[in-house]
Amino acid sequence: MLINIQYKDKWPKNWRPKQAVKTCSLMITVRMASLRCLRLCHPTGVAVSHLHTSSRASAKQHYKMLVLGGGSGGICMSARMKRMFGAENVAVVEPSEVHYYQPIWTLVGAGAKTVASSARPTASVMPSGVKWVKSKVQEINPDTNTVLIDDGTEISYEYLIVALGLQLHYEKIKGLPEAFEHPKIGSNYSVTTVEKTWKALQNFKEGNAIFTFPNTPVKCAGAPQKIMYLSDAYFRKTGKRAKANVIYNTSLPVLFGIKKYADTLWDIVKTRDLQINLRHNLIEVRPDKQEAVFENLDNPGETKVFEYEMLHVTPPMGPSLVVKGSPLADENGWLDLNKETLQHNKYPNVFGIGDCSNLPTAKTGAAVGK
Ligand SMILES: Cc1cc2nc3c(=O)[nH]c(=O)nc-3n(C[C@H](O)[C@H](O)[C@H](O)COP(=O)(O)OP(=O)(O)OC[C@H]3O[C@@H](n4cnc5c(N)ncnc54)[C@H](O)[C@@H]3O)c2cc1C
Repeated sequence: MLINIQYKDKWPKNWRPKQAVKTCSLMITVRMASLRCLRLCHPTGVAVSHLHTSSRASAKQHYKMLVLGGGSGGICMSARMKRMFGAENVAVVEPSEVHYYQPIWTLVGAGAKTVASSARPTASVMPSGVKWVKSKVQEINPDTNTVLIDDGTEISYEYLIVALGLQLHYEKIKGLPEAFEHPKIGSNYSVTTVEKTWKALQNFKEGNAIFTFPNTPVKCAGAPQKIMYLSDAYFRKTGKRAKANVIYNTSLPVLFGIKKYADTLWDIVKTRDLQINLRHNLIEVRPDKQEAVFENLDNPGETKVFEYEMLHVTPPMGPSLVVKGSPLADENGWLDLNKETLQHNKYPNVFGIGDCSNLPTAKTGAAVGK
């Protein structure tokens, strides 16, 4: 299955960066093998007997197909499962009333889109007839084929698809998230902080504009860099570029994970006079002094303080806490999937998709397609 959501952005009349990323795409590919496998496991087939499907009696609700998370992966899969199993047999557990298309947030941070344009009522994206359980998953118990939700209700399933996304960890940087109450700091990674990036850009006068990349896996590894290019374009357009030092402090030892693209990006950063500092990991923000503290990852314990006029934070990220606390997790806390089929490595009636998984792809749809 290939889902490719594309949009063309509409730039404000007064500026239009030439080489800015104008198209965001999200592609989530589920290999057909996994769907074939689900068909094999369908109750009409014999394969069901060896699955963990015996706990129906003890649960208050039961669904043939239960999807955890109603983000990009969960909504796509529930539509597909509706076609396969029938709407009345599919339920999605998702607490949020609002569904966000996160790739737009890069453009919201750059002032080219509104945050409202990234939002839809969850009810409007939920496939019709599918049961929306408006609650948070607290526990997944694959040995009993049950899930516990916020209000204590136990839901049992025959098949489970886990699409819980990943966890942001702003709190792992000293001074955050409180520092977001101060001006000059923003983050495109959260709906509550993305507009602060645009405010900081607009209020920029002169000094360092710093963009960070954390020392953890991230979703959309290009996004921390994209906002730097868009900011550079905005500074040029508004006549502020001569007074701006545009700095990218990344924990990585490379500018980008794929050499072919990294080579091109090195040419671009040189042409545009963007300063790249590799192996610089943000560990503290001091908003009262407008200082950001970075650790030199090549020499642990050694720190360097940068003053900032604007700071864009990409937070450390980690596995969904619910997945991490369940038997479904691998040793690092990610959902332990077979990379060919997206089927769980220990529980054959459990599947997964998206950022919560341990698939050896980047945490964006485009890379998952490989
Ligand atoms: C700034 C930014 C830019 C990006 N740019 C791009 C891009 O250009 N191209 C691209 O392909 N990708 C991009 N991405 C990444 C893309 O948005 C994600 O990879 C994608 O949303 C992952 O889908 P998912 O379903 O795994 O997780 P999500 O879409 O994050 O959905 C997870 C869902 O699980 C729900 N949930 C969490 N915990 C619980 C719980 N305990 N119980 C029930 N529900 C729960 C959440 O409410 C959420 O709805 C970007 C992301 C960001 C933040």
